[in-house]
Amino acid sequence: MPAASMHVPLLDLKAQYAVIRAEIRAALDAVLDSQYFVLGANVSALETDMAHYCGAPHAVGVASGSDALLLALMAIGIGPGDEVITTPYTFFATAAAVVRLGGVPVFVDIEPRTFNLAVEQVKAHITARTKAIIPVHLYGQCADMAPLLALAQEHGLMVVEDAAQAIGARYLSGHTTPSHDEPAGTWGRAGAIGDLGCLSFYPSKACGAYGDAGMVLAHDPALVERVRALRTHGGLGKYRHDLVGVNSRLDEIQAAVLGVKLRYLDGWIAARQTRASRYDQLFQQADLAGAPGEYQPGKAVGLPVIAPRCTHIFYVYAIRVSQRDQLRAHLSEHGVGTDVYYPVPLHLQPCFAALGYCQGDFPEAERAAEESLALPMYPELSEPQQAYVVEQIADFYQ
Ligand SMILES: *Cc1c(COP(=O)(O)O)cnc(C)c1O
Repeated sequence: MPAASMHVPLLDLKAQYAVIRAEIRAALDAVLDSQYFVLGANVSALETDMAHYCGAPHAVGVASGSDALLLALMAIGIGPGDEVITTPYTFFATAAAVVRLGGVPVFVDIEPRTFNLAVEQVKAHITARTKAIIPVHLYGQCADMAPLLALAQEHGLMVVEDAAQAIGARYLSGHTTPSHDEPAGTWGRAGAIGDLGCLSFYPSKACGAYGDAGMVLAHDPALVERVRALRTHGGLGKYRHDLVGVNSRLDEIQAAVLGVKLRYLDGWIAARQTRASRYDQLFQQADLAGAPGEYQPGKAVGLPVIAPRCTHIFYVYAIRVSQRDQLRAHLSEHGVGTDVYYPVPLHLQPCFAALGYCQGDFPEAERAAEESLALPMYPELSEPQQAYVVEQIADFYQ
């Protein structure tokens, strides 16, 4: 029997707002009553609370996730000719920050199960000009940070995490010795594992502001001071500029909103995780998928993989499918919102043509760009909605 038509958006911020409306409005009223709008008490409180939440000693609020990346790279001194290793399968801002400073993004392919940087391929791309590595924690799960940090340390490179999609995701850090392959470490949170970490609070992100906002997490007090100075035109005191920075201040309204939302974040992440395993089960019950992992012969859908050492916050629940664009059109016709992160890998973007990459250079990133499809995912997504999404996908492949 065909299911009745339903509307299932990719994300539903109104459902979230309905729950927190009174708290948000009280927080906004307090800012309006104070008539203090930029870098005030709400920003300071958010920096403290976010640092604590992520397990980083310091946090600096900035105007966006893109600016967090830019300021982090400025703080570690990335400049003309410096090479920065990163993934081609990410949001544009990751590589753009490098190019904005005259640096050269050096791409390394992804590991197909997690869509994250293939860490074992990084070493071969390190040169005398390499200054830093930017692992991107795509979809809400950390890149494999332990071997990456070991490599960075060996070669004297800085590690700047792009944790824009992974706030709250955990990674079991610590050293594995050749004789004991057991990870003997502590759980660290995305953004607090490398030298610097960048968060985005773009409205659609797992912890979204009501406009643009971002944050840099840091360990080294000297780097924190540089980021702090750089976000206000490089000035530490008023009208004294030791550095040339930018205007990338965080405003009180956004900080007030985020202060409320941070209290809900762990609950929202747990709700996302429940919904992710519900999707997994529904796909397996419908015989569309095998175990989480790569495509299984004869199965239409590849499920997301949770890597060893990782928790996944499922900012994005992305399946791998063939005929992706046709499936997407079918879902859209039946009221299901989806998105593609990302249809064009960065090494094939016209603006990066001068870097000299071509089609075929990063086969896994290119395959992901053709196969990956993000399904509706948000903490309030209901069981009937998920069942409907999976039914529609089953219909398509019948
Ligand atoms: C969202 C995002 C950014 C940029 O954040 P903005 O706040 O939108 O500037 C950077 N990197 C990744 C991977 C992102 O998903």
